[in-house]
Amino acid sequence: MVQLVSKLPEVGTTIFTVMSQLANQHQAINLSQGFPDYPCHPNLTAALAEATNAGHNQYAPMTGVPVLRAAISQKLSLQHGISVNPDTEITITAGATQAIFTVIATVLHAGDEAIIIEPAYDSYAPAVIAQGAVVKRVELSAPSYQIDWSLVEQSISNKTKLLIINNPNNPATTNFSSEDLNQLAMIAEKHDLLVLADEVYEHLVHDDAKHHSVLSHEALRSRSFAIYSFGKTFHATGWKMGYCVAPAALMAEFRKIHQYLVFSVHTPSQYALAKHLEEPAHWKGLASFFAERRRLLADGLNKAGFELIPGQGTYFQLAKYTQIQPQMSDVAFSEWLTKEIGVACIPISAFYASGKDDQVVRFCFAKELATLDKANERLLKLA
Ligand code: PMP
Ligand code: GLN
Repeated sequence: MVQLVSKLPEVGTTIFTVMSQLANQHQAINLSQGFPDYPCHPNLTAALAEATNAGHNQYAPMTGVPVLRAAISQKLSLQHGISVNPDTEITITAGATQAIFTVIATVLHAGDEAIIIEPAYDSYAPAVIAQGAVVKRVELSAPSYQIDWSLVEQSISNKTKLLIINNPNNPATTNFSSEDLNQLAMIAEKHDLLVLADEVYEHLVHDDAKHHSVLSHEALRSRSFAIYSFGKTFHATGWKMGYCVAPAALMAEFRKIHQYLVFSVHTPSQYALAKHLEEPAHWKGLASFFAERRRLLADGLNKAGFELIPGQGTYFQLAKYTQIQPQMSDVAFSEWLTKEIGVACIPISAFYASGKDDQVVRFCFAKELATLDKANERLLKLA
């Protein structure tokens, strides 16, 4: 037998795969893994067909096709009033996931430390560990999941190189205030840290709230890699298309890893996305698109006896289930709800390395209204 020493001995199957499989197995309505069950915009799929038919089927430039980088630069100018050089500061990636891995591989040397604020999306820590670097964790608690920045600062050592933030946050559903951003900037400057800002839910903020991007904060812009996903913004998670924005000097190093990780990403999708970005309404209307879905699911969860944790962003709703099953762990509850009630959710303990269990579960409302109606009908059995 060949022997291989695992680089990630603690990693198993992700909770998203586990819960989606369980949902399929029990014909449960899958509100666990975050992906839409409605089609993406017909203009987008038409633009993809057009791009392939027009012959855009060979390797794209390593950094991404110029029309797409230009369209992103234009979007950032509209959104934040900033000027981003499309040639030196933007790279198109295979989803946010590849951008995240690339940033982490670019920044961290063996023995360096990166700070992750938990509950955290699952792709950060394994990427850090795969570099031979060390994860320092700061745990937040339900129901507010507010960041105590003094705790973040206390976890910094002279080996710390990178602070990883996710805003709006999956799964905490929080959205930074401008004061959060100032605190982050103060700490990053004081300790000379780089920032990985996962902003894939930038357009999914509720109740007319504002998304405070690192790109719109001068001090942070100069030391951040900001990461975005067309999968989230254009309801096309299967396309696995995203991009990274960073100052030229940082981006030059990012590209050294990127060119040997993938070299370049899917060409026709890039042309299609460039065309779709020509119409700002395609991304400006997202908050209102989700508002109705959020209200509908919240109504169903309330009637079923869940205690909702008010969210500020993302397409997830957090809920405490202690009035329904006071004794169950969040994992046991998620399995029970999937099997017995026919609605799948995600246990929040899966987003903590320690398995911290505040008896909170996450439901995805990026679904057809009919899907949410059906889920609500099933949940009503709990009332
Ligand atoms: N970051 C966060 C916080 C996410 O929730 C997701 C996926 N849903 C990603 C990154 C990955 O995005 P992509 O599918 O574009 O790789
Ligand atoms: N980001 C999605 C979620 O949080 C799922 C991504 C995945 O399946 N890896 O549910």
